[in-house]
Amino acid sequence: MYPALPANATFDDLLLACDSDLADQARRQRCLVCGNAVHSDNYPRKPRGRLRKLPLEHDLRLSLCCARHGCRKRKTPPSLRFLGRKVYLAATIILISILREGATQARMRRLSALVNVDRRTVERWRTWWRDAFTATPFWRIARARFMPPADEARLPGALLQRFAGNSLTQLVALLRFLAPLTGGQVHAL
Ligand SMILES: [Zn+2]
Repeated sequence: MYPALPANATFDDLLLACDSDLADQARRQRCLVCGNAVHSDNYPRKPRGRLRKLPLEHDLRLSLCCARHGCRKRKTPPSLRFLGRKVYLAATIILISILREGATQARMRRLSALVNVDRRTVERWRTWWRDAFTATPFWRIARARFMPPADEARLPGALLQRFAGNSLTQLVALLRFLAPLTGGQVHAL
């Protein structure tokens, strides 16, 4: 389903590949306004909460627009890398929140060394899941899919467990599940 990734691909590479896949799907559909073909029209968007310096392509929000002069209707596919207006990298939020499940002192030190954030920042991200995410119209509808209900105090770990497969497969499934939050239809973030 996804373009082949090198064996040493980082998690960021994986997310970028997923986003390219979503953009390809959107490119195969024609302009919703005039029915013309659409083409790539990416724009720069600097994500906050960046783990480390990455190649320039990681700072591009993949987007499309109608190829017909005079229409140019923009079409922005969902993204696994950008979570709504807050523009935090989805990967950062999720990885940190997951690592935070059972955060021992040693783990916390390792995490801080890895992502260069302090406890306060981690707490802010955890609060995002607990308060902001649970208040989105997206989640208010989507949570009905989970039976028994997911424990909202333990997001996103509580969601992750509901997807099958190994931890990487689960993570990708979770990010795909969250994709509608980034597609421009939900503005409550
Ligand atoms: Zn058009």
